[in-house]
Order: sequence, then C-alpha cells, then structure tokens
Amino acid sequence: MNNLKLTGKKPGGARSVVEVGGVRIGEEFVVIAGPCSVETEEQTLRTAAAVRDAGAKMLRGGAFKPRTSPYAFQGLGLKGLKILDKAKKETGLPIVTEVVDTRDVSWVGEYADILQIGARNMQNFSLLREAGKSGKPILLKRGMYSTLEEWLNCAEYILAEGNDKVILCERGIRTFETYTRNTLDLSMVPAVHAESHLPILVDPSHGTGIRYMIGPMSLSAVAAGADGLEIEVHIDPSTAMSDKDQQLTPEAFKALMLRIAALREFMAERAMDDANANARGAPAAKDAATQASSSARSGALRDPFADAMD
Ligand code: PEP
Ligand code: MN
Repeated sequence: MNNLKLTGKKPGGARSVVEVGGVRIGEEFVVIAGPCSVETEEQTLRTAAAVRDAGAKMLRGGAFKPRTSPYAFQGLGLKGLKILDKAKKETGLPIVTEVVDTRDVSWVGEYADILQIGARNMQNFSLLREAGKSGKPILLKRGMYSTLEEWLNCAEYILAEGNDKVILCERGIRTFETYTRNTLDLSMVPAVHAESHLPILVDPSHGTGIRYMIGPMSLSAVAAGADGLEIEVHIDPSTAMSDKDQQLTPEAFKALMLRIAALREFMAERAMDDANANARGAPAAKDAATQASSSARSGALRDPFADAMD
C-alpha cells in the first residue's frame, strides 16, 4: 500500500504498543466493555463494576451519540462524562468515549483516557487532525463504507500530527446483507497486521447488531489474531436508550470472558507446542520456541499464522 509513511508496516514487522493507564494495547489482550450510552449514574456504575469483575480492562460509554435521527437520544454530554469519571474513580478502569465534534476534542479529552472516533466520522479530516494534535490515544473505528486503504490513511492523518497512539477498530461494513446490522469483516484483522504496525480491535456489537452473535464473533476475532475487543454491555439491555439489541447482560459478558480466556489458553499452548516441535526439527527455530513460551507467559499471542505471510 502506497503512502502509508507512518502507519505502514515497520521493517522487521515490529508492532506498536499503545499504553493507556497501565494497559498495554497491542501487547496484552484488551477487552473494552460498557454501555452503548451513558444513561444514568446507577446504570453506568453498576455496569462498570460488573465488566471490571469479569476481566474488562477499560470502560466504554457514549456521552455524545451520533444517531441516525436528530430526535433520537443524543447522549448526556458533560453530565455523561462526569458519570464516566465517577465510574473510573470507583473501578480504576480507564475510560473510552466518543468525540464527535472538533470543538470538543480538548475538553472531552480531559475526561477520556482514549478518544473514540466513530465510524461516521472516520473521514472527518479536521476531527482527525484535532485528535492528532490532542496527543490523546485515539480509537479509530472503520467507516461503514471504507476500504482498508482509506481507513489506514485516516490513521495517517492522526500520526502526521505527531500522535502515534492510534488503535484501529473493525466494526463491520455495509453490504447487501440485511439480516445483520453490518457485515463484520474479520479479514481486516490479518490484513491490518500485514499492512500496518497499529493494534486492531474488533467490535462484534456494532459489527452484527444481534446479541446472540456477539459471543461467536468475539471468539472468531480472537482466533483471527485481534489485539482485543470492544463489547457493549448493559445492566438491563431491554431498557437501553440506544442499541438495545446488541448489548450483553453482565452475566452473558462474564460467561463470554471465560470462553475467551479458554480459547486464548488453547492457542498459546498450541503455539508453544508448534514452536517446540520446530525447535526439535531445526536448531535455527530454537528462538521461536523461546519467544512462544515467553509470549504465552506474558499473555501476548501474535501471528499464529506468521509462516503464511511473506
Ligand atoms: C459506538 O461504539 O458507540 C459507535 C457509535 O460505534 P460506531 O461508530 O462503530 O457505529
Ligand atoms: Mn452502540
């Protein structure tokens, strides 16, 4: 891919790690969870405690909601940010929240540990530049009609302002299929790893729009090599003010986190077995065995299919 001066793959394939409040995205597997929208203090604090107890490393929640209709709930704004701040103080979880307007970047950044730029704003170039200037970690979601090249070029806008703390998030694209809200394009996980050094998360909530698909697609994303997940969780999804069909209950989230951990453990053991077998067959592969066992210990699982990449 041409012109990816700052986001393109590095020589030797080194990948970026974005450190946020002690969490190392790109190195450790990170699950960001929380409600679609911040609605009330009770809803947010209870959800935050539940996702933290289940193993989420960060709390998400929208205070500014980009909605299809101007009459739909638009988010609580500053009041929502203050609630997120309280949830952070109570749980210790860093906050991920969306910014939709260039004028809001600096003050929303005072509450957010990661500023999310949503699918609808992926190509809002002035917002990207402002996000770059802020120096804050940015979670850049894929636009629903965007190619990989367009997406990486949008990340390039942020890096070009001197901010290399960018995390990508695949959240599904519009296709002819209408059964699902979007078509979750998991092929972007290996594609991003092949073309860029930036970490990539997957959002199976917006990617499908359907609660029962969140589990299977989360596990598929792990298998594909994603650096983490962003999942919507609500204490009572049926009453949610936005996206009620794609939020998990805390109980379902907890069960999913256990399955994710089991899958990751299985993959780490396999990677270690493969590396050990290679080391026995060829002395030159010994390093790979050492690397696999140390990454299995540290929790990092990288390039399970590295052999297939040129
Ligand atoms: C969100 O994560 O709250 C959101 C609005 O997602 P997207 O921008 O992917 O639609
Ligand atoms: Mn949502």
